[in-house]
Amino acid sequence: MIIQLKHEISRDLIDQINSRLGVFGFKSTEVQTQSARYLVAIGNVEIDIRQIGCMSGVKDVHHVSDVYKLVSRKWKAAPTSIQIADDVSIKEGAFNIIAGPCAFESAEQIQSIVTFLSARGVKLLRGGAFKPRTSPYAFRGLGIEGLKLAHSIAHKHQMLVVSEVMEISQIGEMHDYIDVYQVGARNTQNFSLLHELGKVDKPILLKRGMSGTIEELLQSAEYIFASGNEKIILCERGIRTFEDAYRNTLDLNAVPLLKEKSHLPVVVDPSHGIGIRRYVSDLALAAIMAGADGVIFETHATPEKALSDGAQTLNFLEADRLITQLQETFAFRKCLKAVL
Ligand code: PEP
Ligand code: MN
Repeated sequence: MIIQLKHEISRDLIDQINSRLGVFGFKSTEVQTQSARYLVAIGNVEIDIRQIGCMSGVKDVHHVSDVYKLVSRKWKAAPTSIQIADDVSIKEGAFNIIAGPCAFESAEQIQSIVTFLSARGVKLLRGGAFKPRTSPYAFRGLGIEGLKLAHSIAHKHQMLVVSEVMEISQIGEMHDYIDVYQVGARNTQNFSLLHELGKVDKPILLKRGMSGTIEELLQSAEYIFASGNEKIILCERGIRTFEDAYRNTLDLNAVPLLKEKSHLPVVVDPSHGIGIRRYVSDLALAAIMAGADGVIFETHATPEKALSDGAQTLNFLEADRLITQLQETFAFRKCLKAVL
């Protein structure tokens, strides 16, 4: 059960609600986010929720049967819009493109990508400064200096930066140089990291773990929300299955399901989803038709020379074509929805 509290509620009233919940057999947790205050009550008991709803200080009360609560659509039917800047929001009914290199490599590399993307109206630059690499001998990113470079070049072109945070100690040092923290597939269940990201004032792009179920992804999102940050963007990026013909199996089934189960926006990463450049564009377009609110893909002036993930990275010609096709396909989806 989710009990949304009134803004001005006193400590005394919260204690009264908590003790009433205790009498009914619920264990309640207080959640204070940047925009609201809740009690999340867990218990194997059936009650008439009006018994809580009528208490003073209670704004709203909802029964939520899902294991995740605050990210569930069962209490918040309206889709959540994640505002990143005055003119940039990730939300249902819009379509955002997040593009950039796998990793920031040099000022020249960042400049070429930002010049290319900003000229095409792309507002969100992706790129890693702290890279989770399977081999310790592979390029692991430029670190915070790379992020500072990316931030200053991107902001000069009115672009915003999305970059992966791998550990708690990086949250503070990255804060002033990013607009969205990305949680990578290898950290989707790093619960202490998620908990700390609940305390930041910036949106989180939360990737699905490579062997994570949809319910696990939503539970991870719940960690961030319950720790205080409501600004979460879910990202399907492919899961590991028995199929080894490609890097991962992009699970587009997840898109309509996540959108039905949660009020949070959903984006799709076809680059990591398949790992093979020539298929990335078709999957990005398929993601739109599956109902995604945006895509995140990798691009580089010379993918064959990229220091990471070159095999799945689009060159500018391919990225240019894809950006146009994404805009056309999104317009087509809108028309289709209008007539169906
Ligand atoms: C990335 O976005 O470059 C990345 C490492 O993604 P993932 O965590 O999905 O593997
Ligand atoms: Mn990558």
